[in-house]
Amino acid sequence: MTKILQIKSREDLKISSLKKGEIHKLYIHISNNPMGVPYKVPLIIARGEKPGPTLGITAAIHGNELNGLSTIFKLFDKIDVKKLAGTIVAVPVSNVPGYLNKQRYFSDGVDINRVMPGKPKGKPSEIYSYFFTKKIVSQFDYHLDLHTASFGKVNSLYIRADLDNQETRKMAFCQNPHIIVQKYDESGTLRGWANSKGIPSITIEIGNPNTFQHNLIDETLDGIVNTMKALKMIPGKVKNYLENSVICDHSFWLYSTTGGIIDVVPMLTDKIHKGQVIANIYNVFGELKDQIISDHDGVVIGKNVSPCCEAGDRILHLGLEAEASKY
Ligand SMILES: [Zn+2]
Repeated sequence: MTKILQIKSREDLKISSLKKGEIHKLYIHISNNPMGVPYKVPLIIARGEKPGPTLGITAAIHGNELNGLSTIFKLFDKIDVKKLAGTIVAVPVSNVPGYLNKQRYFSDGVDINRVMPGKPKGKPSEIYSYFFTKKIVSQFDYHLDLHTASFGKVNSLYIRADLDNQETRKMAFCQNPHIIVQKYDESGTLRGWANSKGIPSITIEIGNPNTFQHNLIDETLDGIVNTMKALKMIPGKVKNYLENSVICDHSFWLYSTTGGIIDVVPMLTDKIHKGQVIANIYNVFGELKDQIISDHDGVVIGKNVSPCCEAGDRILHLGLEAEASKY
């Protein structure tokens, strides 16, 4: 017989007060929609028997970036809460209205990962961000923020982290990505806010939007389990995945200077060279009108896969490899 779970809904929650040795599934009330009905954020919380840190994992802060949901579900299939030291708090859907509308943005069209930590009186996105950080993320000791590429783009599995910060550098090096990119804490992001509050935080970009890619999800899961070992939340030897990763000290997008039908040539994680053709641009009759040439050596972190290209559109996210000794 199917077991019907009773999921509790709460106005507020002190995570450390939840019963140890159990997995808790509940909703937290964040703000209200135009019907006056609460926006409730789902939480899955594993409270270990033994003392240890609280590791927070947020997914879908951009509502159409979904590989993180499956990563969280698979993690909770693996967790033995009786052997866990500390607490795992997972938020499978962080931006509830964005998720419901299958879009990146909040209901007011704002990217909530640019307005963190929000404010108690402001736009709908700012109020939501304020209570999301106050009620949930402020209770974390460490934080992993799971993202993907945005609509019309594809990503490798890559990390954005401040490698000059010892704590976030350690977390980045525990993951199992294709690429790690040095990024200082970007203002308005959940990662930036968490780090400013002394909660070490990194961003994990897992492939493509609006889908489940189980190969990348499983690689991400390996990295999270490795992080839990490094934080001594579960026993086991910490693996060194760094030899599989390319480390970049800088990255940027290349933009199209003209409109047309674009075909971006290199594949994800390809190493490209200065002078190499990275995109062909055709007119609507199929005639080659322009080519975009790379003016740097680098590695392909992400790229545009939408052939419909306006002048000024992003076409390729290029990482510049750090010197081997730098990190
Ligand atoms: Zn995102």
